[in-house]
Amino acid sequence: MRKDVRILLVGEPKVGKTSLIMSLVTEEFPDVVPYRAEEITIPADVTPERVPTHIVDYSEAEQTDEQLFQEITKANVICIVYSVNNKNSIEKVTSHWIPLINDNTDKDSRVPLILVGNKSDLVEHSSMETILPIMNKYTEIETCVECSAKNLKNISELFYYAQKAVLHPTGPLYCPDLKLMKPSCLRALTRIFKVSDLDNDGILNDHELNIFQRTCFNTPLAAQALEDVKNVVRKNINDGVCDNGLTLNGFLFLHTLFIQRGRHETTWTVLRRFGYDDDLELHQDYLFPPLKIPPDCTTELNHNAYLFLQSVFDKHDKDRDCALSPEELKDLFDVFPYIPWGQDVNNTVCTNDQGWITYQGYLSQWTLTTYLDVQRCLEYLGYLGYSILAEQESQASGVTVTRDKKIDLQKRQTQRNVFRCNVFGASGSGKSGFLQAFLGRNMMRQRTINEEHKSYYAISTAYVYGQEKYLLLHEVFPDFDFLSDAELSCDVVCLIYDSSNPVSFEYCAKVFKQYFMDSKMPCMLVACKADLPEVKQQYAMTPLEFCRKHKMPPPQSYTCNTAAAPSRDIFIKLCTMAMYPHMSQTDLQSSTFWLKASVGATVFMVLGFAMYRAMLRSR
Ligand code: GDP
Ligand code: MG
Repeated sequence: MRKDVRILLVGEPKVGKTSLIMSLVTEEFPDVVPYRAEEITIPADVTPERVPTHIVDYSEAEQTDEQLFQEITKANVICIVYSVNNKNSIEKVTSHWIPLINDNTDKDSRVPLILVGNKSDLVEHSSMETILPIMNKYTEIETCVECSAKNLKNISELFYYAQKAVLHPTGPLYCPDLKLMKPSCLRALTRIFKVSDLDNDGILNDHELNIFQRTCFNTPLAAQALEDVKNVVRKNINDGVCDNGLTLNGFLFLHTLFIQRGRHETTWTVLRRFGYDDDLELHQDYLFPPLKIPPDCTTELNHNAYLFLQSVFDKHDKDRDCALSPEELKDLFDVFPYIPWGQDVNNTVCTNDQGWITYQGYLSQWTLTTYLDVQRCLEYLGYLGYSILAEQESQASGVTVTRDKKIDLQKRQTQRNVFRCNVFGASGSGKSGFLQAFLGRNMMRQRTINEEHKSYYAISTAYVYGQEKYLLLHEVFPDFDFLSDAELSCDVVCLIYDSSNPVSFEYCAKVFKQYFMDSKMPCMLVACKADLPEVKQQYAMTPLEFCRKHKMPPPQSYTCNTAAAPSRDIFIKLCTMAMYPHMSQTDLQSSTFWLKASVGATVFMVLGFAMYRAMLRSR
């Protein structure tokens, strides 16, 4: 919300502007006043909305037009004062003051106006009849008020309305001409409804309404109050309440009612709580909370964030098939301003037989975004309402920044859960097939992939010693003269060659010698296309000799040309090397080591799935 409010009073001479200000400050009517009151600042704690408020007077006798224009530009709200017993001063409101103010303010950011009829003590009748047509004609007029500086009537109200007009303007919310909520306000409230509809049944039930109420106003709603609200809606529209809960229409109706009754601060409170700014856009501070990531540290989602994302998945997996159909996915992203995932995501993570992103794949994609582009992850969590629903201070509390990798290496242990493997290899050596194989896709399945939807990343889980870890594979473009730091920094390197192509290994040897020979990076050589006849590589050494010489594990043969899903052992090996970069070559060669490392895998995979199912059933 705004830090302070600047109120300017204008109007014809002698209508009582200076007296109004003095009456407010001294709480008594001054008999003698100067032409112009000094600018006063009311401290935050004595104003109703708790923001410091500056009140600025104007006097034609003491100020030039230039000074007046400057004050108009600086003001957040302008009170046009007239005297109820002076026709001319009323007439000047439309003939002089409103046009003058409009000429001196931006069309886009017009300041709200308040019409103030002073000296109500002098007349019996009200000036409202004359004023209402003006109110209707000029949408920038927020409200009008009749008051008297002399008997102190409506003085504090006047300044309260002025404050409110700045802090909770109706302009962005409501179109008085059409008597309808504005589209951007409808959009924001619809999103808020969807975020708050935890079970996604299109109705806010009592439980959801109570959470909503607590989030926005810090107090639960009494059972009777809840019934009263629903009754008001029931009385006015027939599709506002369904199954004893509030529908979207009911929710929107309620807010229209608040606004029409001048209680638009209620709607603003809701909008602001959900991260909207004065233009009804999600605030940058809300979407991008500060998060410091020192070099050599990576970013992961924490348990809390995974639980939240799981509940979001659950909410949208309506048919309970543990995968998101295109419609379900579209519904999930309905609270986003754009669809964040392209078709390539389907080739980055695990999908089911229909090609739909599975529960596992969905969490993997979130893990990938968090790892590669944490700002985006924060933004997306913001759209889903993470900090609000999970009652966290900001989206940033869903992210763990891991400790410096150098310390991990020193201490020979790591708390990390996501490891990156960069995959190098000459073009045509089988890198993409290798990445896709990690997602459980054999060659036949891979042939169905549209080239335009290709991904250079693949992420899934691997179980190492019974712990579930994420392994992120990245296919590096083979032109290695232009390798960026990101392409060189990872936790394990995978060098791929095509064992059926005699000039394929040379590339691996070159990359290794140029970039990794002197680094401590664990490297693994993989001989792809093992289903084809092996040929001798045209290189000074055989791949096996090369590995021995450079203390690498022996070349691993691999094929994704299988009837069923390709083998996963190699990925568990890569993940293990990434987790334990210190492991000696003898360890790596011992078969019992690999056996131990992978033994948990199947057990946990089955268990994980069963647990998820059981969880769904129990709901
Ligand atoms: P300004 O030129 O708009 O700043 O008007 P002033 O505050 O100087 O007031 C002009 C005259 O109107 C003074 O004589 C005030 O005493 C008188 N006046 C101001 N407010 C009221 C009011 O509410 N009732 C009555 N009866 N007189 C008022
Ligand atoms: Mg004056």
